[in-house]
Formats: sequence, C-alpha cells, structure tokens
Amino acid sequence: MASLSKQLHFLLIPLMSQSHIIPLTDFAKLLALHGVTVSIITTHLNAQRYKSIVTHAMKSNLKIQLIPLHFPNQEVGLPQECENLDTLSSLELFNEFFLASEMMQEPLEKLIQDLEPKPSCIISTSPLIWTQQVANKFKIPRYVFQTVSCFTLFCSHIINQEKIQETLVLDSDSFLIPNVPHKIEFTKGQMLIGTSTNKSQDMKSIIDKIKQSQDLARGTLINTFEELEPWYIDEYKKIMNKVFCIGPVSLCNKEMVDRGNKICIDEHSCLSWLDSMKPKSVIYACFGSLCQISSLQMKEIGLGLESSNVPFIWVIRKLNLTLEVEKWLRDENFEEKVKGRGMIIRGWAPQVLILSHLSIGGFLTHCGWNSTLEGIFCGVPMITFPMFAEQFYNEKFIVNVLKIGVRVGVEVSINSWNEEKNGVLVNKDQVKKAIDQLMDKGLEGEERRKRTKELAHMSKMVIKEEGSSFLNTKLLIEDVMQLLKNKEGEANNVARTM
Ligand code: UDP
Repeated sequence: MASLSKQLHFLLIPLMSQSHIIPLTDFAKLLALHGVTVSIITTHLNAQRYKSIVTHAMKSNLKIQLIPLHFPNQEVGLPQECENLDTLSSLELFNEFFLASEMMQEPLEKLIQDLEPKPSCIISTSPLIWTQQVANKFKIPRYVFQTVSCFTLFCSHIINQEKIQETLVLDSDSFLIPNVPHKIEFTKGQMLIGTSTNKSQDMKSIIDKIKQSQDLARGTLINTFEELEPWYIDEYKKIMNKVFCIGPVSLCNKEMVDRGNKICIDEHSCLSWLDSMKPKSVIYACFGSLCQISSLQMKEIGLGLESSNVPFIWVIRKLNLTLEVEKWLRDENFEEKVKGRGMIIRGWAPQVLILSHLSIGGFLTHCGWNSTLEGIFCGVPMITFPMFAEQFYNEKFIVNVLKIGVRVGVEVSINSWNEEKNGVLVNKDQVKKAIDQLMDKGLEGEERRKRTKELAHMSKMVIKEEGSSFLNTKLLIEDVMQLLKNKEGEANNVARTM
C-alpha cells in the first residue's frame, strides 16, 4: 500500500485559525508518514507563521509543502495584517473574514489547474464550504475535517433535530439532552447560539450552510479516537457516512514548540522551573488563542491563583494583557507576591511541552477541543472554564462523560470573544475552590487522576501502528485510492468504446 499511496497528493485546507491550522498541519505529517504527498493551502502570513512545522517535517524527508494564496482581507474591509481569526478584533468581523475566505475559491481553482502531481482529494475544515464546489469541479472527493468531538457533533445534532432551542426563552432555561447515556444538562445561555440577536442569526445561517455542505462531502474525519467516546462515535456513524476517527493528531508533533507563534518564554528556563517543582503539583492556566477576557475577569483569575497557594503557570494572551491588567499586576505587586511558585507567560506558551511535564497536576482551560485533547493525552485532569462556541460541550464531556475534570462554574456563554468586556463569569473564590477540589488528595481526586492516566495511555496507543487512529488513516487513504482506481477504470472504458 505504501508504494501505491506514493502516487497520492492530498490538498489540506484549514480555516485560518490556530485551532484549525495546528491539527491539520499535524495530520499532514501523519499522512506523509504513510507516503502521501501533502500540500497545505493557506494565506501568505499564515504560511510564514507555520513554516517551522513544515520545515521540521521536511527534514525527515516527508513530502509536505505549504502553498500560499492571496487573502483578500482589504477587499472586504479587514485590516491588512488580518489573515487569522486570532487577529480579529471583534466577532462583528467574522462575516467579512468568512467572505474573504470564500473569495479564495477562484485562485485555488487556478492553482489546481497547474498543480503537479494532480490532487487526489481535498481535506478541509468544516467552515470552508466553498471547497466542496472546488472538489466537484475537479471531480475529486472532499473530506470534512472536524475540529470538534463526536460528542459535540452528536449532541448538537439532537438539539437541532428535536428543535429544543425553540422551546427555550430565558438564558437560564435548562434542558437534558434526550436519548444519550449520560446526564447532559444545558442552559439556553450555554448553547452554540444562545441569543436571538441579528449577529447570532447571521452566525446561525453560516452554521446551517456548513451543515448542508457537510452532507455533500465524501466523508468526515474527526480529531478524536474510537476508544475515547465509543457510544457517541457509533451513533454519529449512523447519521453520517464514512466517519474516520484519526486523532489525537497533535501527538505526532509533541516536540514542536513554535506552532504558529514564537513562544514568549525561554524553553529551557521554563523546563528547569518545572523541574524544580514537585510532581503533579503545578496548575497550568491557559485560555487558547481566541478568548477575549475582560480585565475584571483577569483579576479574579489572578487572585484565585494567588490565594490557592498552589504553584502555577498563567498564560496571558497579548490581547488580554491590557494596560489595566498590567497596571493591576504592578500595583498588586503580583509577581513579587507569588515569586518562586507562580509564573506568568505573556503571550504564546509552549503548551504541549508544559502539559507533558511531570510536575503539572492540573489544567485550568477554556475547553477548546485541541486543548482538551492535549490535556487528555498528557494525562492532566482539568478545571473547565468554557466561554463560548462548543467549549460548553467540551466541559460536559470532560466533567460528565470522562469524569476527569471539575467545573469552575461558568453559567452563560459570552457568545463572542469580545462582548461584555466588563463581565465577570466567575470570581476568585470559585477559581480557588475549583483548584482545591482538583488538587485534592482524597479518593475523588485520586479516581480522577487514575482515569486521566488511563485515557492518556489509550491515546498514545491509537496512533501507533495497528492502533485505531492509525488504521483509520489507512482506511481513508484506501478510500481515496479506490476512487482513483474507479475513475481510471471508467476513463479506460470510455477510451475503449471510442
Ligand atoms: N496554544 C499554544 N500556546 C498558547 C495558547 C494556545 O500552543 O499559549 C495552542 C494549544 O496547544 C492548542 C491551540 O493553540 O493546540 C488552541 O486550540 P483550542 O482548540 O484549544 O482553542 P482556541 O484557540 O481555538 O480557542
């Protein structure tokens, strides 16, 4: 099979966001390890940002290239530097970003016409619905790469199917997801689209289009693994054709530190600081690449970490490091007070490297799906602090299904990453209480740590040869190969009849 797969050329097209580009570039490496040639299509600035991942893979003789296309940001009124969702200053601009990405269809079609070897398929993340039209035009299959769990996909399918949203009025109105084996309770305010403002209506229509385009795709790849959520995967397979669970893809790139951003700390001093801490004693607090957190909320997180008396690393994204937050840190003498046991990383952290360290005992996370998977495969129990989008689904998955985390207690979604700038979702006492609960040495804490360890072990096995995700990646490659053979057969038949 390896020799046949050498003839294959996969085009990978991620939405321009950390949580899409990171897993897709990781998956590119996994495909290339099977002998496939991979081209990742992105924009010029993103190609620069992710170059190191590809250079790293090329050093191992893997056939991976990044092909940049023009991103028409200025044509739609976005700032010149804005080519990634993490540089959007407001969710208001999401429609423009979406529009600019749609305008990449024509340049991509031109590119494919001249591309050698000819592409065998397109794998793109779900919001890039126009890539389905490109695949149709060139008569090649498209597979949707899902950056969320099967649990999220299946539960949101039920919510839509049962039209549950229409029965809810207030953000505090709650409901149980019917016909699932776990008790999963949501409030209206925690759902993907919680309110009925015009903005959320726009977002709803985008989500509807994404769902329609998914039905036209040849198959669905999910960054999860069969053993992690078997019931939800089985059910999802009943409603969706050709589902391939191929994760956790990031495990193949664990050693990479600069993933889309230069890290803002010296790797060695970070590791020697961690080395000086007791095993499983440190809390790592990080809220992903998109969440915009109010200054008041930042202070509550800081005070909670300080009063917990537990060693910690607190990553503060540049956008959240407002003048007000910096002034507060200075006035409080914060870093002096926590000296020796608390470290702030201002900017981008080497997250997987830190989570993999033996001294990490807990992960205070916003519950992005990549971060959730990273917590799982590094064997770190989590404190869940969801803020928007599918993060609440991931919280329920971590706490109610896997039982490897505790809630900090967020009740409603901020529904965007810049709204309610002054809002406080949880206070310092809630942060401290959740840390105490997670780090507790009692039976409950020990059980949680045991389950997390078992899942970490499982996740490492699945991407090894003969593991479920390894085999599913092989099945995907075989599926593409079979289609190519059928196409060749058809072409030969036509030639014979002429
Ligand atoms: N990440 C990182 N360093 C940081 C912040 C985030 O390496 O300081 C990575 C993290 O490891 C994950 C990705 O960025 O792979 C964030 O994706 P996720 O789905 O967790 O959340 P999002 O950023 O989309 O909210």
